[in-house]
Amino acid sequence: MNKTGRAAVYHAPNTPFEVREYPVRDVNADEVLVRVTMSTICRSDIHSYQGHRPNPCPGILGHEIVGVIEQIGNSITHDMRGEPLIVGNRVTWTEFFHHGHSYYGDVHDMPQKSKGIRKYGHDLATEDPHFTGGFAEYCYILPGTGILNLPDDLSDEEATPLNCGVATMISVTEAAQIKMGDTVVVQGLGLLGLYGCAIAKARGAKYVIGLDAVADRLTIAHKFGADLTFDVGTKSEPDLIQAVHKACPPDGADVCIEVCGNPGVVATGIDMLRTGGRYIIAGLVNPNAQLTIDGNLMLRKMITMRGIHNYHPRQLIQALDFVMANRLRFPFKEIVDSKFSLDQLDEAFSRAADHSVLRAAIVP
Ligand SMILES: [Zn+2]
Repeated sequence: MNKTGRAAVYHAPNTPFEVREYPVRDVNADEVLVRVTMSTICRSDIHSYQGHRPNPCPGILGHEIVGVIEQIGNSITHDMRGEPLIVGNRVTWTEFFHHGHSYYGDVHDMPQKSKGIRKYGHDLATEDPHFTGGFAEYCYILPGTGILNLPDDLSDEEATPLNCGVATMISVTEAAQIKMGDTVVVQGLGLLGLYGCAIAKARGAKYVIGLDAVADRLTIAHKFGADLTFDVGTKSEPDLIQAVHKACPPDGADVCIEVCGNPGVVATGIDMLRTGGRYIIAGLVNPNAQLTIDGNLMLRKMITMRGIHNYHPRQLIQALDFVMANRLRFPFKEIVDSKFSLDQLDEAFSRAADHSVLRAAIVP
């Protein structure tokens, strides 16, 4: 293969992206080359861009990616479900990859926590195969990635967030053990929170309460299954806790999910739970998210608390099946509410960072 592709390169935190060309080479036997049709800016891309966490430079950010197979190595024949993978198929894939055996994968069934696991959007753009991030014309799918064919009638807008936000919320709601008739509080109504509301409903929750301080998000959350929303910016903490208890008789919510990234909300969330309630931390992705919680209250209320990071590859399949089964019930298409070209990546990042768009899509 003798061609090049364009990529928006990240040189250092808070500096403009530079669109550069890199060579596109033939795949190895265990690789797939995809022509990117859409990628979306995840909150964690913004954390990287703003320098809140280390990311190799120069690099190509972006891990929520869909694309069409352009070339496929001869040792790759089927997707995770066992369907044939061929040139021309549109696919999604796990945002992480790990090749070979691992203690956490083999012994504890947590392949997403394998030592040495790598993620798309976290490698040097200067090193072969250059294209391992979303904000580019091409991406190489590397060994140890779970690949999944996408149905033709699913739009790129619906498919792109599957391999990060949606699959993560499948993992979170599974850990929360949401059962038929449960009441669920979701703290934070960004992309994770909206999918959280919808998946909680699909899992049988009777009543879902969404909390956020952004008015537009409170409005859109109702389309994604929230029965009740509260603006945390206009209500005092005791009032919020009381309002949740009133809405979840007799003694508070069964489940509370933190997806807002603010450690200060955890104690409030625990106060919203009934005795025996479950609390899931999923948004505290940056280091030093210190908590102040009353251990005695945890004990007396018999609270179960879990942290959830990323997802098991099978949960990507569940994410796709959830969206396919519920795309007429919930307007997933509306979550990706803006489109930018590679050359407009700076604008896209600033719009995503200041919350003036919900999910910015890059169409290279
Ligand atoms: Zn992400």
